Amino acid sequence: MVAELFDLNQLGPWKAKLRPGFLMMPATLEEAMLMPRIRFMGRARRVMFKVALRVIAGSVTRKRLVAAGMALQGWMLQASLRAGVDIRTDAPVSELIVENQEVKGVLTVKDGKPWRVGARLGVLVNAGGFAHNQRMRDQYIPGTSTAWSGAAPGDTGEMIEEMMRHGAAIAQMDERVGNQNTLSPGSETAFIRPGAQGMTAAPHAILVDQGGVRYMNEGGSYVAYCKGMLERNKVVPAVPSWMIFDSQYTRRYMLAGAMPSRKKLQRWHEAGYLKRGDSIAALAAETGIDPQVLAATVARFNGFVAQNHDADFHRGERAYDRWLGDPTHRPSETLGTIEKGPFYAVPVYPGDVGTYGGVVTDEHARVLREDGSVIPGLYATGVSTASVMGRVYPGAGSSVGPSFVWGYVAAKHALHRCAGLTV
Ligand SMILES: Cc1cc2nc3c(=O)[nH]c(=O)nc-3n(C[C@H](O)[C@H](O)[C@H](O)COP(=O)(O)OP(=O)(O)OC[C@H]3O[C@@H](n4cnc5c(N)ncnc54)[C@H](O)[C@@H]3O)c2cc1C
Repeated sequence: MVAELFDLNQLGPWKAKLRPGFLMMPATLEEAMLMPRIRFMGRARRVMFKVALRVIAGSVTRKRLVAAGMALQGWMLQASLRAGVDIRTDAPVSELIVENQEVKGVLTVKDGKPWRVGARLGVLVNAGGFAHNQRMRDQYIPGTSTAWSGAAPGDTGEMIEEMMRHGAAIAQMDERVGNQNTLSPGSETAFIRPGAQGMTAAPHAILVDQGGVRYMNEGGSYVAYCKGMLERNKVVPAVPSWMIFDSQYTRRYMLAGAMPSRKKLQRWHEAGYLKRGDSIAALAAETGIDPQVLAATVARFNGFVAQNHDADFHRGERAYDRWLGDPTHRPSETLGTIEKGPFYAVPVYPGDVGTYGGVVTDEHARVLREDGSVIPGLYATGVSTASVMGRVYPGAGSSVGPSFVWGYVAAKHALHRCAGLTV
């Protein structure tokens, strides 16, 4: 499920408050997936033209259309403003106010001064996870870095710790929504780091550890992929791993969120991000990999391509792998030889879009103590909680969806509790 396009101008002065999304054009998800194929697919060119027309039509009708997460939040913000919600920014909550063992409000700031906000029905914490708290990462998800995360900058974990201070039980703190990325020059400080999911699943590309050995199916779930990288790193250095590809790849597919023109490749090579070699041996020398190992890995993969069967990791056997590949590439959408120089490598990191553990809640989104009892007046939703999905991430939407749903469940319960009704 994706949100319909949203006109930012509907928000009036609140327009400037929305954080930019990763899809900065008014395209649906289906359209956005086609765009990287503009070099070789007529349909992709037609879609690009349609989106361009939409932008022009928008400017004539004074609309500023946005898509994806920004559209979702735009619709929600508009609904909240229409309902008269008092929304305060620059008002971080530092403490829960607890009276007679019941949560009765929060301590925040207003005009730079401490400010108490009372809560008659309860407090619902929806303060994100701890993706940007390196201390908590080291404690709960060692070996991962805030530098690789694309999560909202406010995901600093202090509200999880505040709930723990009041006795909240925690679970799944070692889980995160892994999402592989590549830190191309300039992206280290960017809000959204270029994703690498489609990159390594495209034909003419593989992923190898720092010893030059392929160790997983390069397609499929980004969460499983990042878990695979961290597991591998326990055995041999694999963070970052190397995406190895050739000039057949650069002619057709996007790299680090951009079409890799000759100039761009040159610039990235000079910056030290992209490694390049006229032969696999030369590329191995640039990356510090044993040339014989890398040559053997590439030769074995090319053999699998010839047989259209990845005997090692079964890449291409799942619909997910093929969807991430190139629908026009035959006979396989995802398997393609690495044989036409120059050859290239870029680092791939086991990044994430957020953490997936937090406080334990019940079926009414109430926060629970270790002994299973309820902390009266305290509710939580989203990635501040241990995911309702448990330790699996069934697919995109597994964080935003529950965040919305359990927010609704909590509000409904609090209202009923106040009215003395059962839910
Ligand atoms: C590029 C990208 C793509 C993604 N795609 C998807 C997708 O397709 N589907 C999906 O489900 N998820 C996706 N995600 C993940 C998803 O965006 C997050 O998991 C989700 O936004 C978490 O929602 P939340 O409501 O729990 O918290 P958040 O969205 O993290 O919001 C928490 C808010 O609380 C604020 N806050 C923190 N502490 C305090 C405090 N003490 N006082 C006051 N405010 C505080 C933060 O500033 C933040 O604004 C994606 C993420 C990224 C980066």
